[in-house]
This record gives sequence, structure tokens and C-alpha cells, in this order.
Amino acid sequence: MGLRKLLTTHIDHPESHSLSHYQSVGGYVSLKKALTDLSAEQIINEVKTSGLRGRGGAGFPTGNKWSFIPKTDKPKYLICNGDEGEPGTFKDRLLIEKAPHMLIEGMIIAAKAIDSHQGYIYIRGEFMKGIAIVEKAVEEAYAQNLLGKNILGSGYDFNLAVYSGAGAYICGEESALINSLEGRRGHPRLKPPFPAVSGLYSCPTVVNNVETFCNVPHIIAMTGEEYKKIGTEKSPGTRLFAVSGHVKKRGIYEVEMGTPLKELIYDICGGIQNDKALKAVIPGGSSSPILNAEEVAIATMDYESIASLKSMLGSGAVIILSEEADLVETTFRLAEFYSHESCGQCTPCREGTHWVKDILHKIREGEGTEKDMDLLLSITRNMEGGTTICPLADACVMAVRPTMQKFKNEFQKRLKVSDKPSEEKQSVVHAG
Ligand code: SF4
Repeated sequence: MGLRKLLTTHIDHPESHSLSHYQSVGGYVSLKKALTDLSAEQIINEVKTSGLRGRGGAGFPTGNKWSFIPKTDKPKYLICNGDEGEPGTFKDRLLIEKAPHMLIEGMIIAAKAIDSHQGYIYIRGEFMKGIAIVEKAVEEAYAQNLLGKNILGSGYDFNLAVYSGAGAYICGEESALINSLEGRRGHPRLKPPFPAVSGLYSCPTVVNNVETFCNVPHIIAMTGEEYKKIGTEKSPGTRLFAVSGHVKKRGIYEVEMGTPLKELIYDICGGIQNDKALKAVIPGGSSSPILNAEEVAIATMDYESIASLKSMLGSGAVIILSEEADLVETTFRLAEFYSHESCGQCTPCREGTHWVKDILHKIREGEGTEKDMDLLLSITRNMEGGTTICPLADACVMAVRPTMQKFKNEFQKRLKVSDKPSEEKQSVVHAG
């Protein structure tokens, strides 16, 4: 366990984004193997055997997702979700900027697996540099017949286009992303039907994350059996974590799944800033429930361990919070983000996220009461559990309620003097 380079082996090279450099380190060899030696079923089986799970948030098994695509005459579409927009996330940006050909190679192999001849890379609009790099990489790939008609003489055709988002977080939700690609407002769709049956232009569609596609060439190169030996039995492979917050060496680290969270914080990232004590960690992006120090001590970075602590590995954003962190402020800011990003289709989300933000603002300003705390918890209960079209409302709840429950004291200390816990009231009276 610990640091393990697989996707990031060559990204330190200044030309890592270029086709010539990628080919010089073995790039596109897996594509040749997939096009000439493997059938679509064999590719899917390799990915299923590898145990690869989606790296965007939900952790769904990738091979299974591909196998859901019906074998119809309808066009099938392949989409890369590069709309990385959750607070704390920045690991896909690294792959987009440093390894665009790894992404393209993974997509062409995936396209063959699902019999798709048209793909799209949907990139967050703010990633101007990344968009330019990927567009250039696509051009290079066309110039060498790695994209287009009769790829490398294999008889297989695949076209790929780059599409820039317009800055809405909700377009990272796959059905909203599909609407956005179609030129519609980026609103999530009711499901079913799921994209595998009716996605882009009502045709079967697979949407995978950048990091997920980047794993595919490695699986084909080393075989699913070998890939499965990395990481843990149920969470194979490596994972890129974007570590931010109160840690000495913030950055993106590729580690083997199952690495203890403490090892990531103290051995790999050098420990807590100013050698303060650790208060909490948000382990998988802002919508993953916070872990307190006791939970951090036993957590390992794989899907099962984090799920057993009622949180998620999510989008790979690990936010470290020291004893100096103001969790009322942190929680308010996250609630503000979700209320701003709600698309407004569902009442529990549209209204709930705003109420949550407003009550947290009141508490933050020292105007909140015990009743407000109760009201906040009651509102969050009405926002979750499938009452909305997409998981944004649940994400807001996950960003707020576990923090209020695990760190209740911090919120109570910020209430109006008349509603503070009695020992806090005493200290205010004495200070006065
Ligand atoms: Fe829009 Fe929120 Fe409903 Fe999702 S849950 S569809 S973001 S209103």
C-alpha cells in the first residue's frame, strides 16, 4: 500500500501531453491489441475481471456499465465526463492536462467494447488550458489515424469531439451533462430510462469519468487478472487523490487502494500544517460525510472502508481540517455552494438548500437558536431519500448534517447567548 504510480508514471515529463512522448513510453500499444487481438466481449470481460470501478463518485463497476448497452442498430455514444466541479476536486484536471492521449486511448478501447462510433469529451468550461491541450491531442490522434475512419487499418471507425461546459456544477450529473451536450438547459433527467438505454439523442450511451477511462489502457496492457492484484480485493487499482486543506504538502497523489488515510496524511503529505492536531477529514469531495479524528485513525482509502464509516470515496477530493478549522464556516460555505448550484427543478432541493444555507448563515452570525438547529435537521430529513430527481439535495445534506451531528458543540457555541450550552453562557457572562 502507499504511493503507487500507474496513471501518473510519466506525467512529470514536460512533454507528457504530446503524442510523440506518449508513444515513446508505450502509448497506444493497448489500442492496437484491443483493435486487432480482442473482440468487444473480450475487452468487456478484461475490464470486468479487473474489478475497475468508476472514479467519478458512485464507484459503479465499469465493465458492468458497458455490458448494459443493448446490441441494437441504434447509434451508441460514448462520453467522457470531465466536468470536475465539486469543491476540493482537481485530480481529473491533472490527467486532462498531462495525459490526454491516455484518456483518448482509453476511450477508443471503450468505444470498441460498446460498438460506439462517436464520442465526446465534456470538459468543465473553466479548464481553458485543459481544453486546448485535449483539442490538440485529438488533432494529433486524427493525424496519425488513431481516430477517424479505419483506425490503424482495423476497419473500426471512431470520431471524437471536445465539448466545453458552461460552468454549472450540475452538468457533472450524467443526464444533465447529456442535456447540455444536446444544447438544452443542463437539467438532470428523470430516471429510468437510464443513459445505457436512452441517453444522448435518445440512444444508448455510456458516461465515464476521466480517471476511469485512463485506467483502461493499463488493464488491456497488463490484463484484468494482473490489474486486480493492485489494491484491495473489492477495490482494485490505484486512485488519484486531490489532497487540500490544512496539510503540509497539498497536491495530487496516486496511491494503491486500501492505503490507510493516516499514511496519506502523515507519511505522504507530511502531516498537519504547523503541527496542529487533526480535527476532521472530508474524504471524497464536499458531498461525502465528514470523518472525525477517531474515524480517520481507522479508515483506509478504498470504497468499503469509507462506506463502513458511512461516508464515500466519491470524487477523490480529500480535504484535511486541523484543530483550527472553523466547521461552522466550512459547513455554511458548502451549503452556499449547493444552494447556488441547485437547478431548481425539485422543491425539496430548490427550497431546502436555500433554507439550509440561510439557517447556517444565522448560526454563523451568532443569531441562531436551538430551534434553528432542530429546524435545520428537520429540513435535511425532508431533502433526502429519493425525493428529488438527482442526488444534489442528498449531497447538500451529506455536507451538512454529519458535521452538525459529529461536531454539535461547535455549532452550539455559535448560538445566541440565551441558547448557548450552560458552560458557554457562564464564560460569556464572566468575560463580560
Ligand atoms: Fe435540480 Fe436539485 Fe432536483 Fe437535482 S435535486 S434535479 S439539482 S433541483
